[in-house]
Formats: sequence, structure tokens, C-alpha cells
Amino acid sequence: MNPRIERLRESLEEPLLVTNPTNIHYLFGFKSSNAALLVEQDRARLFTDFRYSEAARAVEGVEFEETKRALLKDLADRLCGPVGFEADFVSYSGYETLRSGAIEPVPRRGLVEQLRAVKDEDELASIKRACEITDRMFERLIGERFVGRTERDLAWTIEQFFHDEGAEAIAFETIVAAGPNSARPHGRATDRQIGRGETIIVDTGCSVGGYVSDYTRTFATGFVEAPVKEAYAVVLAAQQAGFDALRSSVRGFDADAAARRVVDETVFAGTFGHGLGHGLGLEVHEAPRLSVESTDTLATGNVVTVEPGIYLEGRAGIRIEDNIVVTEGGFENLTGFRKDLITVG
Ligand code: ZN
Ligand code: ZN
Repeated sequence: MNPRIERLRESLEEPLLVTNPTNIHYLFGFKSSNAALLVEQDRARLFTDFRYSEAARAVEGVEFEETKRALLKDLADRLCGPVGFEADFVSYSGYETLRSGAIEPVPRRGLVEQLRAVKDEDELASIKRACEITDRMFERLIGERFVGRTERDLAWTIEQFFHDEGAEAIAFETIVAAGPNSARPHGRATDRQIGRGETIIVDTGCSVGGYVSDYTRTFATGFVEAPVKEAYAVVLAAQQAGFDALRSSVRGFDADAAARRVVDETVFAGTFGHGLGHGLGLEVHEAPRLSVESTDTLATGNVVTVEPGIYLEGRAGIRIEDNIVVTEGGFENLTGFRKDLITVG
């Protein structure tokens, strides 16, 4: 009995065709770039082409059927009646293909994602391990020279440290954004040399067992002007306000509002231009969301980031991001690395 499939079945009104590879991986531990899983009340069928057939045959608790490389076309010929499909994942032409035969496609959203949002013990263990490795990476990073090196060069060093510390892979393209670049929330590492008196946002993470970490720390090279120090203190206070609001059954909207209020009551009002956080797991951005637009409610076992920021256009940016798990009584912070404004060389 696969408990994830059992829980999924409880939410189904018709058979569900799962085509998002991350969702298939979550449900059956099977990885393929061209697979589909049909979950019915009494059985589950896994469809994939010849390239993955040997691996698919070895998956327990599922019936394997080999398909042609054009997977959706093959399924359209093979299946019939009402079939739920992942509307956030299937393209419009994929949808046209699905309905070209005897299938009556029913759009469904977030059914597997909502299961993925609540982590079990094994998943939490992987995320904790990814966080410990990230802590050690940052410990080493602050001993590095920053001034005179390019953002891109430092990003490579970070990836090397992750590798040295036992990460499987980096979780996403590392952001190293210094000086004016740090004022862009998702600035990428460029060939610009890091100067003195700048803030540097480092936003990075690694993966262990397929599960990711996603931290941000902001450093300074030498003296930074008073308003930047003040902004740093406000970001820290906003993060604390976010933490104080976090517990199971709190709405993502309200956690975001608690942190946002702290920034908006200062001279930095309006400079926190993104959401407070997002879920973390097999993907770097998943349910639940902590943001102005969020309709999610937090539950025990959710893993989310808490990452307020202040961005002063053309000058500097500050973001601090921790990874936490929502518990019965509140939350546990998985991020061990310090949060004072560290001056790097
Ligand atoms: Zn991040
Ligand atoms: Zn993040």
C-alpha cells in the first residue's frame, strides 16, 4: 500500500492523469522526462516509452504499460471517459491531443502539490541535511575574499563548497548580487567586480535526496552607510514578525502581512516588493505560499522560506532568508547560520 496514492485517491472525483514529472517522482519515486501516471480507485498505471521501460517495470504497486514516444497521443488512443489532468502543467496543445480521442479531459489543479506540501519524516530528514550543508557552506564562504572578485567567480566558489560538503547538486542558479545589482531581488551573478562599501546578496541552496534548501544572507564589504545598516535591522525585525505569526492554521496572507507591516511602518515603506516566502521540497518553489496573493493556509509539516527584503534602487539591497518547518506549537528553524551583518574582506 502506497500511503501517498491512498491520500491522493481521497481527493479524486475521476481518474487522475499525473504528467508533472516531479509529482510522479513524489508518488512512486520514479524519474522520467516522458511519463504519465493514471491513478484510478482500484489501480494505478504507469505509462512511459522504451527508454524508461526497464526502470518503470521495477516500480512496485503500479502496472506498467509501454507507450510510443508521443505519450499524450498514445494515451488519447488508449484511454476513454472522464480523466482529470494537471491543468497547471499540461500545455494547450497537450490538452488538444488528450481530447482528440475518447478521453473527456477534466482540468484539476494542485491535487498532488497539496500532498507534497506536508512533509513526512524522511522528507524532513533530507531537507534538514541540505540545510546543514548550506550552513557549512556559508561558514566557509565568509572566510573568502569578496572585494575585487566577480559575482560569477564567487558563485562558482559557492558551488564548489557545496560539492565539498556533500551536496548532491545545487538547488538553483546561485545568486550573488553586489552593490547596485543587489537592489534587484532576482539579480543574477554577473561579471561585475565586487567593490568596497557594498552589500552583497547571496541566495543559494543545495539538494540532498532530491530535496532542497534555499537560504539568503546579505554581507557587506567594509563600511556601509547608515541607512543601509538601518534597512538591515528592519529586514531582521520583519523576519522576526513573520516568525511570530507562523504556526499551523495561519493563512499565508497573514504571515506575509505581519512581516510587511514592519517594513511599511519605516522610511523603507514599499521597498519589500516580493512575497514573504514559499514552500520548499522537491522543488524550490512549491505550496504553500506566504504572500499578498496567497490563498494557502499553513499546516503542520509544511516547510517554507521566510525571506523579507528591502531594495534601494541603484544603491543596495538586503534580503535574509531562512527555511523553517511548521510544527504543532509553532515552527522549527532549520537554518543555523548567523544573521548579524557580517563584514567580508
Ligand atoms: Zn532564495
Ligand atoms: Zn526563496
